[in-house]
Amino acid sequence: MDLLDTLTAKGLNRELPTREEALAVLATTDDELLDVVAAAGRVRRQWFGRRVKLNYLVNLKSGLCPEDCSYCSQRLGSKAEILKYTWLKPGEAAEAATAGVKGGAKRVCLVASGRGPTDRDIDRVAGTIAAIKEQEPAVEICACLGLLSDNQAERLRAAGADAYNHNLNTSEGTYGDITTTHTYADRVDTVSKAHGAGLSACSGLIAGMGESDEDLVDVVFALRELGSDSVPVNFLIPFEGTPLAKEWNLTPQRCLRILAMVRFVNPDVEVRIAGGREVHLRSMQPLGLHIANSIFLGDYLTSEGQAGQADLDMIKDAGFEVEGQGEATLPRHRAELGSACGGHDTAGADGGNGGGCGTGGGGCGSGRAPAAEAGCGGHGTDGCGPCGEPGDEATGGEVAGGGAVAGGGDEEARTDLVRVRRRGAGTELAPNA
Ligand code: SF4
Repeated sequence: MDLLDTLTAKGLNRELPTREEALAVLATTDDELLDVVAAAGRVRRQWFGRRVKLNYLVNLKSGLCPEDCSYCSQRLGSKAEILKYTWLKPGEAAEAATAGVKGGAKRVCLVASGRGPTDRDIDRVAGTIAAIKEQEPAVEICACLGLLSDNQAERLRAAGADAYNHNLNTSEGTYGDITTTHTYADRVDTVSKAHGAGLSACSGLIAGMGESDEDLVDVVFALRELGSDSVPVNFLIPFEGTPLAKEWNLTPQRCLRILAMVRFVNPDVEVRIAGGREVHLRSMQPLGLHIANSIFLGDYLTSEGQAGQADLDMIKDAGFEVEGQGEATLPRHRAELGSACGGHDTAGADGGNGGGCGTGGGGCGSGRAPAAEAGCGGHGTDGCGPCGEPGDEATGGEVAGGGAVAGGGDEEARTDLVRVRRRGAGTELAPNA
């Protein structure tokens, strides 16, 4: 079809599609779906080959958040029966991180619930980063701690963080419908702070909250404009006990179309399938690997994923390979944070940036968007997000203002696939990795 030929050509040349073309991807039929996946797959292979980057989540502080993000199981008023605990000790976090790295993860994502860190929290996280790097010097570390105040990003960078995650989650126009305690602009500001400090920006979205196709295209174009190095795509997990518990809006086919649209708009950026992968893509997960080049290994923040070994088996069976510590994630033309700005000497070509970040490439500046463009925001979904997992995220409490976020799902509710995390960080049981 002409549309897919056009989008493939643009993706191979790193040209931005039009909004109409992006919307047309979301409007394709099931009969066209494999052609859509194949076209996005060509773009994915051009920039990322058959590599799959594995990321591993460590939830440093779970639940009890004062913010009201309606998708989040950790939010104020959430009735979801998630694990609730305060800051893990550096040794506990390092133990969990090491399990993920041994399982194949190249990046560890350190997440804490809350509006944002205090300066003392930054000290805690710095100690945790040091403990992890002592055991795993080459691992990339992404922090996800919420809204940043002045100079906190610089301190995280100096402590050895390679990236910072803060998701935009949804369009600017609908942001106020999902959260009232902070704004879309707050999120953009935090991403800008992280970017300006030389941290690789990781910022993504949550699909399935009742948003329109136009909202999805808006947020994905905004992420491209912000210069996010990695874009986690979360699929809402409608947790019981959260305001969005009834929002079962996604099918595997819909998820694949969303991933393809994200890939066409961000052809040379790490696209990560984040929370909700198992719940919504289900047996179609391997097709998602033809579009995205990154996933989380094992469990999410407050929900459980499939077994880590099942992730590895899936990658191998689908004909892909796990990206190694010494391999660059992003194509050469994109600037690598690590080398670029500042001085982080992380290991390997990818160096610190990893996922989101960079790869080996070149120095500063190059492919990255100016700091001012970056921005993003927030805590949020699962994967990366600091907070919430998609899965959990679904949780939330009352939707802002009465909540009209979603329209009430009309797809089959697969509550049987939603499992609250009961192992790994914050428990006596071994992590899933
Ligand atoms: S997404 Fe982050 S800020 Fe929002 S409620 Fe969840 S933990 Fe709190």
